[in-house]
Amino acid sequence: MVDLIKAPGDPIWLQYVPTVQELEIHDGLVDSLAEDANSPVPNITHRYPDRALFLVSPVCASYCRFCTRRRKVGDPEKIPMAQLESAFHYLEEHREIRDVIMSGGDPLLLSDRRIDEICKRLRAIPHLEVLRIGSRIPCHLPERVTPELCAILKQYHPLYINTHFNHPDELTPPAVQALAMLADAGIPLGCQTVLLKGVNDDPEVMKRLMQRLLAARVRPYYIYMCDQVAGAEHFRTTVQKGLEIIRALRGWTSGLAVPHFVIDAPGGGGKIPLLPEYVVKLTDKEVVLRNYAGKEYHYTQPIEPILVG
Ligand SMILES: *Cc1c(COP(=O)(O)O)cnc(C)c1O
Repeated sequence: MVDLIKAPGDPIWLQYVPTVQELEIHDGLVDSLAEDANSPVPNITHRYPDRALFLVSPVCASYCRFCTRRRKVGDPEKIPMAQLESAFHYLEEHREIRDVIMSGGDPLLLSDRRIDEICKRLRAIPHLEVLRIGSRIPCHLPERVTPELCAILKQYHPLYINTHFNHPDELTPPAVQALAMLADAGIPLGCQTVLLKGVNDDPEVMKRLMQRLLAARVRPYYIYMCDQVAGAEHFRTTVQKGLEIIRALRGWTSGLAVPHFVIDAPGGGGKIPLLPEYVVKLTDKEVVLRNYAGKEYHYTQPIEPILVG
């Protein structure tokens, strides 16, 4: 990572090097996504009907300055396996959960053995159709993606990994190689990006990031508005800027390169999608649409069938 910083204040520097602006605490900021309120047992956040977040590693190697969990440091194996028992038990009991997202911290900072153990336990639960890992390792510590790790992960398909890149310069040759190894292990890769002022709040930068992700076999998944994290006010930009970026992507580049733009609603509301307005008018007879280039088109609704008899 350090090699990537070209100058103080560049997009990589801004994400990781603390500034005095972090000490400014503004009114109305919250320091969490109210995950505790949706936490039935320790390490589980069950907010959506059919999927749950499973915090398997308390720490992250990234120290991103805009993260809700940026203060957590220490030994990634600090949670003893025994302490995860109530979480496994909850997942076993709740048959409506068909998708578990291992998160943290960073799950891939755990040892190979611990990752194998956790995945094996989860795969023994028949109703869990899909396993997911959220990790910034491919960006931050690509050397962690070893053939041994890939051999472990590929035993647990369907397994998805969502990674996190915020700037095209982060797609370094080692990062691209780590992504290729994961993709070769059959793991579909997604990317969650955070909209950050001075880093990627620019349609051209964002387009290049999305295109380079696709070229690295990663399907852009979400662009998030920056959470209202205490001390991260200087990273926040407007919702209008996010919509401008989506408008600059959709139609102008591959549809595969266009992620969903969402706000993770404070207070535990979950992810809420935002879309630029493409519907000019909608009636029972027709819809008037505006395409990516601003031209209008009419689409006629089906004619109501005349009921006979
Ligand atoms: C983001 C998130 C999920 C997964 O949401 P998807 O839209 O399915 O990716 C699940 N639980 C929590 C608490 C989340 O924040």
